[in-house]
Amino acid sequence: MPDKMLKFVKVDQQTPTKRLADKRVDDFKEIYDQFVQDKAKEQSSRCSQCGVPFCQIHCPLHNNIPDWLRMSAEDRLEEAYELACSTNNMPEVCGRICPQDRLCEGNCVIEQSGHGTVTIGSVEKYITDTAWEKGWIKPIKISNEIDMSIGIIGAGPAGLACAEELRKLGYKITIYDRHDRPGGLLIYGIPNFKLEKFVVERRTNLLKESGIKFRQNIEVGKDILFDELKQKHDALLIATGVYKSREVNLIGNDLKNIFPAMKFLTASNRKGLGDKVEEFDNGNLNAENKNVIVIGGGDTAMDCVRTAVRQNAKSVKCLYRRDRENMPGSTREVHNAEEEGVEFIWLSNPKEYIGTEKILSILVEKMKLGEPDSSGRKKPEAISNSEFEMKADMLINALGFDPENLPKLFNDQNLLVSKWGTVKINYQTMETNTPGIFSAGDIVRGASLVVWAIKDGREAAVSISKYLELKRQKKIKAA
Ligand SMILES: Cc1cc2nc3c(=O)[nH]c(=O)nc-3n(C[C@H](O)[C@H](O)[C@H](O)COP(=O)(O)OP(=O)(O)OC[C@H]3O[C@@H](n4cnc5c(N)ncnc54)[C@H](O)[C@@H]3O)c2cc1C
Ligand code: SF4
Repeated sequence: MPDKMLKFVKVDQQTPTKRLADKRVDDFKEIYDQFVQDKAKEQSSRCSQCGVPFCQIHCPLHNNIPDWLRMSAEDRLEEAYELACSTNNMPEVCGRICPQDRLCEGNCVIEQSGHGTVTIGSVEKYITDTAWEKGWIKPIKISNEIDMSIGIIGAGPAGLACAEELRKLGYKITIYDRHDRPGGLLIYGIPNFKLEKFVVERRTNLLKESGIKFRQNIEVGKDILFDELKQKHDALLIATGVYKSREVNLIGNDLKNIFPAMKFLTASNRKGLGDKVEEFDNGNLNAENKNVIVIGGGDTAMDCVRTAVRQNAKSVKCLYRRDRENMPGSTREVHNAEEEGVEFIWLSNPKEYIGTEKILSILVEKMKLGEPDSSGRKKPEAISNSEFEMKADMLINALGFDPENLPKLFNDQNLLVSKWGTVKINYQTMETNTPGIFSAGDIVRGASLVVWAIKDGREAAVSISKYLELKRQKKIKAA
């Protein structure tokens, strides 16, 4: 074992500095500073180099974490990057926004001995940001382009990862997306304070320079027919994500100033990108000077409350029907939100929205937790006669997302979907019930994580290349 490792006994865990809450709420910049080189090296050296690395097992991409930590501790950063990117198409994105406490770091063995986990995500970000700075990341160069094309619907992490892997093999790739910029939720969902947009843009620019064609502002099913894409390409990938907001059907639902989370976040992200957003500029989607209530307990709700704080809301409250221990969002994000002044109203549920034209207040009922439901979390039950009223000038629903009706949208009633509307695939091959059409990411799993979307995109790429190789050989035989 190199003497540069196993330092967890002597070296304490240290994360990159987090900017102070009262300073960071003044802007939308990321809240964690970068490691300086010596810190990244020192923190990497804490790894215990386990024979069976649980961090690697619990990383959806099975990143070779102990090896790139060792390389980083030995100042072999370029090799560390080569290794990190051999399993992950966006290590700097995952390093920033994976819920590491539930994945790699949550399974770090040295934490179980009371020493505090290795800060894996921060080192992964450091290695890859350094690779960008030093110019080690280069566009893909193709010497022999294969005369077969793949159409990818959706430029989110699943579509982008699949595109990159197939381009490396020499295929022609076209990505279709209904938004004006590629990146999916990395651009229009996740706010800058978690993931600054230049991080996503430099990746998508690299893919463009690698010869991947992007056709933005094209909604498949509307601006171009799904059938047309089937004719045009040798294989297709559906990676459209999930966008239908879940809603609560309450009295007062139709009052003004009640918004779905994605509408609020997209407007804020567009403003950050310098776009003109009429509904923001006229004040509707701007939380400034408003009493804002966000309903929901997941990561999207956390992004909404923290965005509202940065827009100078008068007050920001998050209403959630379970308690802190039973909420789906990352504890790290709840903690960040609390530091930034968000008030959490646990065990409470909206019952009615009150107002004349615009929302003025909401009627809330208190909840208690019963037996665990099918998700394993305790089921919330209303407490009778517990209602109280809360003032609200703006209400944001962050209750989760469902898939759109793809068979209808694509005018393809043969496309098999589950009872939840997610696309059904063969999990061995990522292929749908139609040969040559594959699917990946949230549209298969339901709302999930970036790292799982990347994993799916990579697996779909492997299956698509096998499928195309067979197709090519059949053509040769038939000729
Ligand atoms: C607010 C928010 C915060 C999140 N925070 C985190 C986080 O911190 N960490 C984390 O790991 N995950 C987070 N997630 C989840 C993560 O963003 C998703 O799991 C991931 O982006 C899914 O990737 P995808 O490629 O499947 O879909 P998406 O990223 O949704 O991309 C799908 C793309 O398909 C396009 N599209 C859809 N329909 C069509 C059509 N008919 N024609 C053409 N194009 C179409 C869309 O425009 C979009 O660009 C968050 C999600 C949200 C909403
Ligand atoms: S991709 Fe996510 S889970 Fe895997 S090592 Fe990186 S931060 Fe951890």
